[in-house]
Amino acid sequence: MIAVEEHLARILATVRPLPATRRALDGAQGCVLAEDLRSRVSLPGFDNSAMDGYALLASDTEGASESSPVHLPVDGDIAAGDTTRHRLRAGHSFRIMTGAPVPEGADAVVPVEQSDGGVVRVAIHHGAAHGAHIRARGEDVGEGQVVLRAGTRLGPRQLALAAAVGHGDALVVPLPRVVVVSTGDELIPPGSVPGFGQVVDSNGPMLAAAARDLGVVASRVGGVADEPDTVARVLRQQLSRADAIVTTGGVSMGAYDAVKAVLSELGTVQFDRVAMQPGKPQGFGVLGAEAVPVFTLPGNPVSSLVSFEVFVAPALRRMAGRAPFETAPVIARADEGFRSPAAKTQFARVVVTSHDSEQLRVRLAGGQGSHVLGSLADAHGLAVVPPDVTQVEAGDEILVLGLDGTNPGDHVHVATAGETVGRPWFGAAALAAAGSAG
Ligand code: AMP
Ligand code: MG
Repeated sequence: MIAVEEHLARILATVRPLPATRRALDGAQGCVLAEDLRSRVSLPGFDNSAMDGYALLASDTEGASESSPVHLPVDGDIAAGDTTRHRLRAGHSFRIMTGAPVPEGADAVVPVEQSDGGVVRVAIHHGAAHGAHIRARGEDVGEGQVVLRAGTRLGPRQLALAAAVGHGDALVVPLPRVVVVSTGDELIPPGSVPGFGQVVDSNGPMLAAAARDLGVVASRVGGVADEPDTVARVLRQQLSRADAIVTTGGVSMGAYDAVKAVLSELGTVQFDRVAMQPGKPQGFGVLGAEAVPVFTLPGNPVSSLVSFEVFVAPALRRMAGRAPFETAPVIARADEGFRSPAAKTQFARVVVTSHDSEQLRVRLAGGQGSHVLGSLADAHGLAVVPPDVTQVEAGDEILVLGLDGTNPGDHVHVATAGETVGRPWFGAAALAAAGSAG
């Protein structure tokens, strides 16, 4: 038997970020930048108005007040998108809209609320300070400045910035394409009612969804027979469209465990018993000329999910150019004691019960058998109990990993009507006002 750390280390020593490619920004969401992005422009690109109002000379408004306004002629309108280079004459004004270029010679904008709103002549009710309500060219971003560093993951805000500074594409690490292959003679496709001896392939949808939650591209092949030639053929077929392959089933000690049988022969995939519960039988290696990483997970649903979270997810993040672990586990307190197997790392499904004095409290999520799907769906996280601990006592601190890319603590911050999670916030107030039960 090998330790969890050893198996994970071997995986992480093998997988590499995918080669960078140039992608249009619209197709780069979730990708990691492989180059520094420099601004091609200044932001804003021109002095523009921050308000709807009047562009003028601050000195022309000196002493203006509601009781003795300053009257100025309005020479015209400047709207956002107006590309004419207007010029302000001293003692005059332009009516200007938010985002419109400030005319040359103007040094302030007076908001329309501080005027009578005049179109031909305007009465200004407040004196303006020099520069008031003008967004100066380059005050946000300077031309040539690095705005996004290599290694940054492109989310909505980063894509906005890249676009705003003049880029339509970027050199990125592409999203890994994962193919999930479910093996087992007993498997039937989701959507069918199993007959005697049959089992719905629930691992396929689960693992593909887990991969997508992680931010990679996933597809799946279901119901591959426990037959070495069939398994070999399917894997060969998938190699051309996969950056990684994840199989489930067929890696135990059974007489029909075809995945293990066929991949053991190749010599590039190694099978181990890993000192963990659930998830003991594990295989990992590379396949084909392109050395595509292949993860062979056990078929029991809980085992396959735990294996995915513990081994596959960190590897896929690395292939995507990200850190293998992006969120640190949290330390929680056990509500109640439970036994843990000796000499194995236990990954116990837990639910968060409360969040008192900044610490999460958790309890086991129902049955812990590796075949149990019902309580798996309820779980918020995986408590990690080290090999040398055989008994967790009530009140003990335990490490908890999030599931589906969430933080275990996320699960206590769900506000329902009447509940304000520590302090009032607009969401809870709106739910209460809407009369929703949450
Ligand atoms: P195996 O790892 O092939 O020995 O399978 C272990 C257990 O997991 C058996 O009870 C299988 O029926 C079940 N199992 C295997 N593959 C799947 C799957 N794709 N979906 C749901 N259960 C599965
Ligand atoms: Mg099987």
